[in-house]
Amino acid sequence: MGRFRAGHIGVLSLGVMALAACGQGEPKVVAQQAASHKPAGAGSAEEARKAAMAKAAKAKANELGQIPVIMYHRVVLKPAGTDDRTPEQFRTELERLAKDGYVPITAKEYTTGKIAIPAGTHPVVLTFDDSSPSQLTLDGTGHPKPDTAVGILQEVSRKHPGFRPVATFYVIKDMFGTFGPEAQAQTLGWLRDNGFDIGNHTRDHLNLRGKSKEQVTDQIVAGHKLITSLIKDAPSTLALPYGNQPSTKDWAIRGGAGDVKYNYTGVFLAGYTPGASPFSKDFDPLGIPRIRAMDKVGDCARFCSAAWLDWLSAHPDDRYTSDGDIKTVAFPKFKAPYVAQRFTKYTLPY
Ligand SMILES: [Zn+2]
Repeated sequence: MGRFRAGHIGVLSLGVMALAACGQGEPKVVAQQAASHKPAGAGSAEEARKAAMAKAAKAKANELGQIPVIMYHRVVLKPAGTDDRTPEQFRTELERLAKDGYVPITAKEYTTGKIAIPAGTHPVVLTFDDSSPSQLTLDGTGHPKPDTAVGILQEVSRKHPGFRPVATFYVIKDMFGTFGPEAQAQTLGWLRDNGFDIGNHTRDHLNLRGKSKEQVTDQIVAGHKLITSLIKDAPSTLALPYGNQPSTKDWAIRGGAGDVKYNYTGVFLAGYTPGASPFSKDFDPLGIPRIRAMDKVGDCARFCSAAWLDWLSAHPDDRYTSDGDIKTVAFPKFKAPYVAQRFTKYTLPY
């Protein structure tokens, strides 16, 4: 089980290049860059580029590095299984992320390459599956209850300015324990209005492995409609129940039935490594790995969040570090062969 990856990158990249070429939607960053491009005198353009390179080098930017996508389920005082965390454990992990220089981004931001975080910091994607009330319950005045995941995330963010209180919620029909379209719209609307990202986790949480195309599509469409019927915004990404891909992976990312179409920017799995940079050839939107939140115990000694955060701290050259400029993809020169084709014109090797 090679912990990393030099050989692995070489082998995988051919397949990933082929996938990247088969018509993913252009990331937002591209449109933004095109819009903000201004002609400048050759001298000043070159000076600006040199200054940007110096800034990237100072920040030790590596925007081809890996990004941890952490998978949480319930946050409860009495964990019932290895997917649950206590409020204290969750708070401790967020404190660690803040101290290690991580800044949360959403799954949508990650998969579209819209990573707007300060120079020298690292993105982390916090994801919550199955829409349980322990993740978000609003009190009578419309504020998250303190020991819910959202309450704790906001609390840590107040203590650590710069630690953005954002996350992605992969919802199913058990909509945070709320009943009726009004209460459900209120809860989802609260998340949207407060900068959170809502993703599709299918409606009924069935295992999609081995299912027909029609069954797979129906479940994804039903989950998609569940969200769009309550709030206007459509989800951008999907997390597969149990992390199990359908027999044709493509069915998960795009399809439709009736008047509903989906075309996601990423499909997330349930194990067990950090994710590739969206700018690297290694990035495969059809199957983005996530890391289970857990201490270094049992089978989590190496492959859950505490272990991987230790590993990323010990291997800064493999971790994504921002140059602070959303318009460039900055990295040490020798990593250039790993840039995905469609980002080559935005690169800033130094
Ligand atoms: Zn789930």
